[in-house]
Amino acid sequence: MSNLEITLTCSECGSGVHVKPTRDAENAQCDVCQNLIPIKFNEDHMNGVVKDCPCCGRKDFYKQKDFNRKIGVALFVFGALSVLVFEFIGVGFPWNYSVFLALAALDILLYFFVPLVVACYKCDTLFRGVSNIEDIHGFNHEMHDRIVYSDHDFKGEQLDH
Ligand SMILES: [Zn+2]
Ligand SMILES: [Zn+2]
Repeated sequence: MSNLEITLTCSECGSGVHVKPTRDAENAQCDVCQNLIPIKFNEDHMNGVVKDCPCCGRKDFYKQKDFNRKIGVALFVFGALSVLVFEFIGVGFPWNYSVFLALAALDILLYFFVPLVVACYKCDTLFRGVSNIEDIHGFNHEMHDRIVYSDHDFKGEQLDH
């Protein structure tokens, strides 16, 4: 049994729609606007393998860190605020710098421990818990541009330079 979790983007309202692969699913329904999104799972998906996109049918994917930007921004704001507070109550150096250093270290630590997420170049569908993550390459700018702007289909062939 796979742990594959898929997040589609609703074509009507842009909300994230979470689905688990099931053998006979034909649609995923958006919780927000009730729009039905056609979806097609195969045997690979049932095993957590991502080779075909269940949403657009393409075979081109990339992996990236599943880093929550909101956490990064929240940490930064918290750091900046605490420095202001330290300045205000007159503690200042070295407390203000220690807070910044601690937060920067936490940021780096978070970055190393966040899991990888796989994304479809064409339709931005996200896949978590992918079992063939080793086969999937990092983000390639040229592939992205050719797929998104000129509708090129690499059919799962990685572009290498
Ligand atoms: Zn929707
Ligand atoms: Zn897709």
